[in-house]
Amino acid sequence: MPSSYQVRGAIAVIAFDFPPVNGLGSPLRTDLMAALDRANADRDVRAVVITGTSKAFSGGADVKELGTPAASRDPRLPVLISALEDSPKPVVAAIAGICMGGGLELALGAHYRVAKADARVSLPEVKLGLLPGAGGTQRLPRAIGLERALNMIVTGETLPAAQFSGTALFDAVTDGDVVDAALALAGKVVQEALPLKRLRDLKVREPQAEAFLQFARNSVAATAGLPAPLKCVEAVSWCVSKPFDEALRLEREAFLQLMASAESRAMRHNFAAERLAGKVADLPDGVPLREIHKVGVIGAGTMGGGITMNFLNVGIPVVLLETQQQALDRGLSTIRRNYETSAKKGKLTAEQVEERMSLVTPTLDYAALADADLVIEAVFENMDVKQQVFARLDEICKPGAILASNTSYLDINRIATFTKRPHDVLGLHFFSPANVMRLLEVVRGAKTAPDALATCLALARKIGKIAVVSGVCDGFIGNRMLAPYGAAAQGLINAGALPHQVDGALQKFGMAMGPFRMGDLAGLDIGWATRKRKAAETGISKPVVADKLCEVGRYGQKTGAGWYRYEAGKRDPIPDPVTEQLIAEYRTAHGITPRKVSDAEVVERCIYALINEGARILQEGIAARASDIDLVYLNGYGFPRPSGGPMFYADSVGLPNVVRALRRFAAEPGADKSWQPAPLLLQLAEQGKSFN
Ligand code: NAD
Repeated sequence: MPSSYQVRGAIAVIAFDFPPVNGLGSPLRTDLMAALDRANADRDVRAVVITGTSKAFSGGADVKELGTPAASRDPRLPVLISALEDSPKPVVAAIAGICMGGGLELALGAHYRVAKADARVSLPEVKLGLLPGAGGTQRLPRAIGLERALNMIVTGETLPAAQFSGTALFDAVTDGDVVDAALALAGKVVQEALPLKRLRDLKVREPQAEAFLQFARNSVAATAGLPAPLKCVEAVSWCVSKPFDEALRLEREAFLQLMASAESRAMRHNFAAERLAGKVADLPDGVPLREIHKVGVIGAGTMGGGITMNFLNVGIPVVLLETQQQALDRGLSTIRRNYETSAKKGKLTAEQVEERMSLVTPTLDYAALADADLVIEAVFENMDVKQQVFARLDEICKPGAILASNTSYLDINRIATFTKRPHDVLGLHFFSPANVMRLLEVVRGAKTAPDALATCLALARKIGKIAVVSGVCDGFIGNRMLAPYGAAAQGLINAGALPHQVDGALQKFGMAMGPFRMGDLAGLDIGWATRKRKAAETGISKPVVADKLCEVGRYGQKTGAGWYRYEAGKRDPIPDPVTEQLIAEYRTAHGITPRKVSDAEVVERCIYALINEGARILQEGIAARASDIDLVYLNGYGFPRPSGGPMFYADSVGLPNVVRALRRFAAEPGADKSWQPAPLLLQLAEQGKSFN
């Protein structure tokens, strides 16, 4: 049963027990309604206590249920909450652990509430593109005042119950047993015949209401494009401008409207995708994990430093190894500078900075890695250098140590052959800046042991990353998709567009940064080196405009010019006639007459190129599910959140439409064969199915 029912003295105790978080899906709601009816029908029962477990009063609605047919949602949450509020016998909610969303709305329907001081309360619906749709926008302001309620509802932030002691949200906040406290309060209410306090009966008296509401409207203006935050403000405004019942009706309507919006669908998809990520079908539950008490990082450059910080932040000591003292000093001082910047912003104390720095042991000597449980290599992107490093690690590291590479493109299976323990080798592909970006591609080699993989997935959670498992291929999920995306952008330049137009169109679509700005930021010399290497390997050379830029020393921001030019010390890209001239020369040399390219064409070609490669990645099993690909692009490549990621976006455009456009591009004279729609995409489109 999702809840238990017990009568203690004259008080019925209804305790939710519906793992993992007492989600208010249909089973728990039905059970709770029946238990409430039972208590009200029992003449010996004088009051009711509702409670959860020590971990969760309730985590709120069942996200999977949102948007499903109405019948499966009976009794609906608002109906249940009204039943609680209208109960003739006093109802006391005893709250410990999380009390979120629908869980908090349910508690607001009780007549009295008692909370454990460290219980965590929130109305996070806005994070799913929704608003609290079961009275939260009306009852919370009555409990804690308009301004605080507005803040909580618009940001979705989680706060400790202790912050609300003294407000009408909690009649008591305790460090002791919350059910005992609720029973004592219920006994007192019965004995002293205290009135049933219904939040609906309170008035929100706030002389500055309009000023607070206007301030909130202005603050959410920055989230333009997302309808939910503004709707939240509007709904809260009804608690001062409308009678309670009318406001509840309007709130429900607004909730249902948001539920049907594309943005909320995408945000719910993202939420579900994050929960699924890192689940590996053939990895049995309960694989014993290896213990990670000490980490080694090889290379203290851009990535090595950021990677190190992730572990220091959670108290895991790191041995940081370089070949040169100077590089080691530089890496360490960058780590320190980053922490000191956080301290200046008040995010860390001076002691915390020192504590974290004390956990890092700089070294030039591999012997210091002998007892590391995990070593992550972040040296130059060059197979020969990786070979030297892994051969050395194989000699030094203890048996069972996990050996990981942060390589962006190179073959993890080949890297594994540099050791006599390929089962301990995998890829841990962090994104730059590695101490900030939440994405981590965990690259599973052909021989990677299940427990090594499971250990890294658990460790990823510990350091706050979203881990997505990728198979081995050139560039794994994210960078492999970037290749056809970049080629599409390049094709548009050849055809007649300019870098700032392509970047502008994609940024309008919502990408954090267009491909040419991104190229300038990352450095054009990296791609140039890769193209030269591949040309040497295959004997096929296809010159592109970027080669011309590199040939004249334009490597991007670091040389003050690339696709754009940059003023000294600044990062704003300025369109540059020199680039235009190089592009014009390229077109002339290839007999291309430039044509006009529309913004819509830019978006179609670049985004559909991503989707098409995503479909191949899915078909090959490099990614386990489309939502993993979405997570990679949302969290590693600045894909717009309200679109839900490239594969979800493809679903919303309609796969037959994507196929039709790809066929059109593939049929153009001289078109690259990568424009051919991927077989999986064709198959799903024909069957009327979608990726997600
Ligand atoms: P970087 O040039 O900033 O740093 C590399 C560091 O490794 C240098 O400090 C160098 O002194 C050191 N090093 C070189 N050979 C070494 C050796 N044999 N032993 C110990 N140290 C050695 O490079 P980076 O940008 O940090 O990239 C490192 C790796 O991470 C590469 O494989 C790269 O593809 C990958 N990567 C980079 C990014 C990025 O955005 N920069 C993102 C993801 C992955």
